[in-house]
Amino acid sequence: MRVTISVEQVRSEWVRRIEEVSGQDVMACYHCGKCSAGCPAAEVMDLLPNQIIRLVQLGQVERALESQTIWYCAACQTCYARCPKGVDLPRLMEALRELAMQKRGDHLEIARLDVQALAEFPQQAFIAGFRKYTA
Ligand code: SF4
Ligand code: SF4
Repeated sequence: MRVTISVEQVRSEWVRRIEEVSGQDVMACYHCGKCSAGCPAAEVMDLLPNQIIRLVQLGQVERALESQTIWYCAACQTCYARCPKGVDLPRLMEALRELAMQKRGDHLEIARLDVQALAEFPQQAFIAGFRKYTA
């Protein structure tokens, strides 16, 4: 498969947004592979954790979002503990999951929510739900 990479893609709005949400500098990763070697979920992933970072580094965000890896990540922190560059991969995976859900559009129709039920919801669940299910 031929892949075209441009400066615009590498520093695209999506890449900046992932870095902003995760608080991580994706360029810090130098692909030693220690994260993937220690990941307990690696065997069921279609792409290894460091391959996901590589895609983001190259501005191939759509391909990272299509991967099942971001959903298999259990946020166990093993990769973060092993990373010599201090890259918090679980945060990066979470940012990608958020982005994937946002790109799918709103899953909540606010106007259809039951006002009485909303008043009884824990506020934290309410806010978390909106963050996850609305763009
Ligand atoms: S352990 Fe860190 S530096 Fe090494 S490949 Fe993984 S994220 Fe990159
Ligand atoms: S946090 Fe996710 S990517 Fe990192 S080792 Fe755990 S399952 Fe693998």
